Amino acid sequence: MYQTFIGLEIHIHLLTESKVFCSCPNKYGSEPNTNICPVCTGYPGVLPSLNEEAVTKSYQVCMALNCQLNDTAVFERKNYFYPDMPKNYQISQFEFPFGIHGYFDVDLGEGNLKRIRIHDVHLEEDAGKMIHSGNRSYLDYNRAGTPLLEIVTEPDLESGEEAELFLQQFRQMVRYLGVTDGNMEEGSLRCDANVSINEAGKGLGTKTEVKNLNSSRFVRKALEYEIRRHKKVLSSGEKIIQETRLWDEDRSVTSSMRTKESSNDYRYFPEPDLPPYRPSAEFLKGIKESLIELPLDRKKRLCEEYGLSGQNLVFITAEKETADFFEETVSKGAPAKETASWLGGDVQKQVNITGTGLEASFLTPEKLSTLIIMVKEGKISQNAAKKVLSVVFDEDKDPLAVVKDLGLEQVSDTGELEKIVADIVDSNPKVAQAIREGAGKQIGFLMGQVMKATGGKANPKVAQELIKNIILKQE
Ligand code: ADP
Ligand code: ZN
Ligand code: MG
Repeated sequence: MYQTFIGLEIHIHLLTESKVFCSCPNKYGSEPNTNICPVCTGYPGVLPSLNEEAVTKSYQVCMALNCQLNDTAVFERKNYFYPDMPKNYQISQFEFPFGIHGYFDVDLGEGNLKRIRIHDVHLEEDAGKMIHSGNRSYLDYNRAGTPLLEIVTEPDLESGEEAELFLQQFRQMVRYLGVTDGNMEEGSLRCDANVSINEAGKGLGTKTEVKNLNSSRFVRKALEYEIRRHKKVLSSGEKIIQETRLWDEDRSVTSSMRTKESSNDYRYFPEPDLPPYRPSAEFLKGIKESLIELPLDRKKRLCEEYGLSGQNLVFITAEKETADFFEETVSKGAPAKETASWLGGDVQKQVNITGTGLEASFLTPEKLSTLIIMVKEGKISQNAAKKVLSVVFDEDKDPLAVVKDLGLEQVSDTGELEKIVADIVDSNPKVAQAIREGAGKQIGFLMGQVMKATGGKANPKVAQELIKNIILKQE
């Protein structure tokens, strides 16, 4: 029996106005080498200065991960030579990072939680980007010096699936916090996966590290591949070589990239140009107070408070914006279950059709609530509500006005409908007789006539009741 150990090293790009040690814009997708200055391109004689916004966001993550905070955090130089790092060292944290000894509870399904320990959370700067084309290589330093937060887990994960769930739920949390957009394709969330196996009870085995994993699915697939490979190697009596490997998505295999350099190759030493960082009690108190409800707690509360479950609950809590929109709509009077179905159904359909996000659309919780209540009270049909939705999603219009403009109001007024129904029953005596004798299906025919006479605007429930009552009365 083998035991599996997996530890993740996750990098997230922090959403800040400027870079972490200079005032260049922290922006993705600009023309190459337009967001650069002497600091982030490593000119001699320049001095870094620490970006408070990056620090604040780092501590938010530390607290959300239940970390202990070092009284004094120290920036250090991690020395290495590579063209994407013009200073020839990266400013990072090593011995005294912002946060240590935290944990994150991952939901393995149906509320079955597993606690994964967090080794540490540290702030560093990203490198530039190398672009290879033909037999030339190009350098873009826009990314150099952008704030990167690294989260290192203990090797507590035990399968590719657990690692995938961890990553998905971790990503959801940092997106809730608003500290990163977590876009794995654009590299604003990157993950390296470390794995070893050993005979049960014997502790950690020799690990390999897999890089180039730009989706949580690749993390699972690469780990599953590595676990199989480790088992094969060990079962044949050979040894695993500690090394870094690359995931090749096209071939669904990992292959050796380099044997791992040990950490003292980097000759870490304290950054002389930045003072040790000591967060004040007041600063930390402010961050603690500003912490929002995290996804796991929110899910639990929305389940208990509104009776949401299954796919509805997953959809509503996937993004903080959706959960906020849901709760606001309900607070305006719409019933919870209907609100959840509308948001997951027709509203999402509008988002998909128009390519406009909910926040960017003209739909507000107030308008959605009005719409749902109108349907519930029988003022408009479900189909009419869908038409109104597509208008108020795209244009700044009042749902009530749209209902009037499009003439979608249902006739629920019994007096008005009664006359119409009575006429129709009178002119279809055979059908009425058949219904009296038990041919319930024939009511559908009369309903069709009522709809025709009202241009589809009769409230079906009210009309049906009237048909039955009038026919019985004639008995
Ligand atoms: P390195 O010095 O090679 O970077 P670290 O000790 O810093 O290694 O750990 C990096 C990551 O690898 C962490 O997430 C850690 O949990 C994980 N890890 C370390 N040793 C093992 C092992 N033997 N098996 C599986 N994962 C491991
Ligand atoms: Zn700069
Ligand atoms: Mg390490």
